[in-house]
Amino acid sequence: MPPAETSTASARTDPPTARWWQAQPDGKILCTLCPRYCRMADGQAGFCFIRQNHGGKLVQLGYGRSTGFAIDPIEKKPLNHFFPGTPVLSFGTAGCNLGCKFCQNWDISKAKLDEQGLRRNTPADVVDLAIAQGAPSIAYTYNDPVIWAEYVVDIAREARRRGVANVLVTAGYVTDEARPELYADADAANVDLKAFTEDFYRKTTASHLEPVLETLKWIRHKSSTWLEVTTLLIPGHNDGEDELRRMTAWFAANLGPDVPLHFTAFHPDFKMTDIPATPPETLRRARAIARAAGLRYVYVGNVHDEDGQTTTCARCARPLIGRDWYAITHFALKDGACAHCGHPLPGRFGAAPVALRSGFRRLRVSLS
Ligand code: SF4
Repeated sequence: MPPAETSTASARTDPPTARWWQAQPDGKILCTLCPRYCRMADGQAGFCFIRQNHGGKLVQLGYGRSTGFAIDPIEKKPLNHFFPGTPVLSFGTAGCNLGCKFCQNWDISKAKLDEQGLRRNTPADVVDLAIAQGAPSIAYTYNDPVIWAEYVVDIAREARRRGVANVLVTAGYVTDEARPELYADADAANVDLKAFTEDFYRKTTASHLEPVLETLKWIRHKSSTWLEVTTLLIPGHNDGEDELRRMTAWFAANLGPDVPLHFTAFHPDFKMTDIPATPPETLRRARAIARAAGLRYVYVGNVHDEDGQTTTCARCARPLIGRDWYAITHFALKDGACAHCGHPLPGRFGAAPVALRSGFRRLRVSLS
């Protein structure tokens, strides 16, 4: 299918002043958006590259600047209990506040803005594009939306006002201070739980586990955002039986049995090209451990496994939503409940989905 041509306006030239920072007595700026708490002298950028001290004020270099738009199936985020089978307008900016050695989007996350052919789009442009493409939701994805939170917040507010939903795909590495505003208009989130040891977080992602656990609990209990969680299983690094048992026990106790958990397959990338791809058997074993811990909706991803990707009714055990990778193969939900026995399925559901067997489309967005 040829890419869609869409025209957008270019409205901003100067980076706007960021939120979530404090001037320090020594003239530096302390960024309080994520638990990294970068301190920046004049002219310096933070770890994420896109927040910078400009003459004593923090600016947001990512505002209005996308690395490109795509229409993805919502299952690719992955979200399995949020308007299944619908398209989602997906985009990101540049940079990241984590330093994952296995990053699967490292060309974006490690880019500085001047290395990318970045386009400028106002919040209204992005919502216009979603509506023009028939996408009922917008995903802030590809790089972590935490670091461009000002732009996310403005687009999400405009999207909600115009009836378009918002989806955050994130590592959940954000401070208590910034979380409420970031999630104010978020309808759904998929949060990575990258492992269940501080050692892995520190050595392999250059971040810490505890703030991520706090974000997961906060979304589940203090927000109205629909939550799903993803763990990329990396052979020999975070797929041990004991770790998975501890992780899924914590998950059941703190998030409950109805939050979907996705175990996805790693492929060698970035600084971990010496690690083999995740065997399908590892995904199946992890899924069995999670189900034994009491989790009702556990999925495998990045592989063909219809059994491991199908949603079944928690009461009558019949299949409700069949999937093969991103394609919907079966749909037996009526008004968000099992079409056979009427038991409600946790999540957000609309009409029967349009199957997206053709994958996703890249959009070309021309500048005015
Ligand atoms: S958001 Fe960026 S600048 Fe701010 S603390 Fe985190 S990594 Fe540093």
